[in-house]
Amino acid sequence: MTINIILLGPPGAGKGTQARTLVEQRGLVQLSTGDMLRDARSSGTEMGRRVAEVMDKGQLVTDEIVIGLIREKLESGDAPGFIFDGFPRTLPQADALNDLLAGMGQSIDAVIEMRVDDAALVDRISGRFTCGNCGEVYHDTTRPTAAEGTCDVCGSTDLKRRADDNADALKTRLLEYYKKTSPLIGYYYATKQLQPVDGMADVAEVGRQVAAVMDGIGR
Ligand code: ADP
Ligand code: ADP
Ligand code: ZN
Repeated sequence: MTINIILLGPPGAGKGTQARTLVEQRGLVQLSTGDMLRDARSSGTEMGRRVAEVMDKGQLVTDEIVIGLIREKLESGDAPGFIFDGFPRTLPQADALNDLLAGMGQSIDAVIEMRVDDAALVDRISGRFTCGNCGEVYHDTTRPTAAEGTCDVCGSTDLKRRADDNADALKTRLLEYYKKTSPLIGYYYATKQLQPVDGMADVAEVGRQVAAVMDGIGR
């Protein structure tokens, strides 16, 4: 049986952090449109140049582009299941995802909503840095590297901060979230797929709540 889940929540809620645990522990495949778009921009293509400007301002990239990226990944092979991280972010994206999965005889098993206060998000975003080599997610105070400047997981010294992780872009990202993405909460509530978790808890506790949702799927 394949399991497909969506991680839904505002910027900095902890989606990427929990997705990595699910990949490690359950062998699911993480599909992060944010990561795909950052790859596209560093590849120097015309599409990459266009999305860079939009991302740095904190606005959403067009539905057409992100749906295209997800379609490509879904068509490129089998997986025991997918974790959609940062996708869908609009109602048209949610519809497109349903259609794409239906075409494969699959569906979404759960939408995990990570609830975090705005004040905490500012803190999380401003302290976030990631490993450019393996993608491990760190935080200046809540999850620093063991050795200054070196990734705990792979030993790389290529630790980076995102161009859009600043107070100005975050303001726009939060507005975009409430205006365009938060309607998905009502939508998935109505379809009975919504499973809220307390994103304010520490990483391990959030992980336990996510695991409980995963273990309840299909029961
Ligand atoms: P965060 O980790 O803060 O939630 P992401 O890495 O998911 O952010 O996304 C970073 C940026 O990439 C977004 O602010 C937006 O510009 C763009 N983006 C990512 N996913 C989508 C999407 N599904 N639809 C539109 N834009 C997206
Ligand atoms: P998202 O993918 O939703 O934007 P991330 O997983 O990148 O969020 O997390 C944002 C920042 O907050 C990172 O620096 C991460 O280390 C930190 N973080 C994630 N989950 C928690 C948590 N439960 N408590 C405290 N900090 C967290
Ligand atoms: Zn690393």
